[in-house]
Amino acid sequence: MNRCKTVCLALLTLSFMLLSTGEAYADHSPSPVSTVDVLIDVGHGGIDGGTSHGDLLEKHLNLIVGKMLYDRLRQLGVCVALNRSHDYAPSDDNDWLRSRSRHLRDLAQRKLLVDVLKPKLTVSLHTNWAKKSSARGPGVLYQFNQPSFIAAHLFTNRLNALYRTSSVPYVGDTFYLLNRSRTPAIIVEMGYISNPSDRKMLSEAAGQNKITEALASAVLDYLFFFHVE
Ligand SMILES: [Zn+2]
Repeated sequence: MNRCKTVCLALLTLSFMLLSTGEAYADHSPSPVSTVDVLIDVGHGGIDGGTSHGDLLEKHLNLIVGKMLYDRLRQLGVCVALNRSHDYAPSDDNDWLRSRSRHLRDLAQRKLLVDVLKPKLTVSLHTNWAKKSSARGPGVLYQFNQPSFIAAHLFTNRLNALYRTSSVPYVGDTFYLLNRSRTPAIIVEMGYISNPSDRKMLSEAAGQNKITEALASAVLDYLFFFHVE
């Protein structure tokens, strides 16, 4: 596994990106940090709360686990970047895409960071919701390519072991980040906010630790699978 030679600070990168002129810059310039193993994309933020249960908002759960995963992976020597470290919407930084859709500007900003960093894997963290409160467990979506497919299975295996479920990953090519990213990416729904036992796991420190460990183990599985040295 490649060791991180540079301290990967997403905020530093975002500051750098704000100086750029958008996608054209990302497409034609060398990556400033080409050794990034994993980019953690923390779903939603700011005005966009994501799904919810009462006062519990998806954006906060995603951020808590995202930051924990970032710290854990750094401890393990993985070169990792985080695209937001506090509660704001990435669309706030996007003044380069001429679109009236805040949602599209948000997604494009997230994808811009993928283009700049070119990580070996992008993991987009989300929390699920279903009308039926019995729906539970992880849900992992992948791009239609081999690395993403394998990553999705590795993440699903680790999370299934935690939740004692038998979820199966599924292709999510219609989702912007998966459809547009040119490096391997997956979307990880970490559990259902609408299910009482999943909600307990997602919202309490002990459960968040377990989810973080499962995700970190899956990252190591993936890096081992593709980058044995
Ligand atoms: Zn979400």
